[in-house]
Amino acid sequence: MSCDDTRKTVFIIEDEKAIAELLSYALEREGFKTIAEYKGIEGINKVKATKPDLLILDLMLPDINGIDVCKKVKSEFEIPVIILTAKSDIVDKVTGFNYGADDYITKPFDVREVVARVKAAFRRIEEIRGNMRQPDRIILNDNTYVNVDGREVIKYGETITLTPKEFELIYLLAQNKGMVFSRDKLLDRVWGYDYAIDTRSVDIHILRLRKKIGDFNGIVIKTVFGVGYKMD
Ligand code: CA
Repeated sequence: MSCDDTRKTVFIIEDEKAIAELLSYALEREGFKTIAEYKGIEGINKVKATKPDLLILDLMLPDINGIDVCKKVKSEFEIPVIILTAKSDIVDKVTGFNYGADDYITKPFDVREVVARVKAAFRRIEEIRGNMRQPDRIILNDNTYVNVDGREVIKYGETITLTPKEFELIYLLAQNKGMVFSRDKLLDRVWGYDYAIDTRSVDIHILRLRKKIGDFNGIVIKTVFGVGYKMD
């Protein structure tokens, strides 16, 4: 076993050793670190001790029910859980999801399917984290910034209130500094496809926005002649 710390750890609680080994082998080959445990109670303790990134959990365990393991683990910390079961019983599926299982795989399974589901679970987590990492402010110049949470602009410490469309316009441009947006593109992105306005409305909104934030010379929101607008 290498000591590459960047590997994600998948914990497997499964009493059928052959299945646990197959999963470990397949996941390690894909670059994951795995830990396997064959009993529920021991599994809970080891999951708590090792804090893995994901749990693959068999429902039918010799000592306690997998659902109880799921409940217990989920009540202690945030971890995605993929449940394995020999039963295709819909009742179990519903129960599993009720207790916080994130995904569900019915035995017999193709191991590649499990690997794919594990990867999908990690992708979802990355996406959520990515969204949370959004900066709460985007600097426009020395004295002005967009307050993303408040959907407003702050200039010299003073709040400038924006309409929803004005905020979306300035947020889009500020998030993509250096990128030129045509009027059509701004219409699509800010107003969506069901707009009943024409591209001149974009100019009117930009004009109003500039006025509000005191950008009278178009230094913050730049006009790219014949094309559209951008921020640098
Ligand atoms: Ca079992």
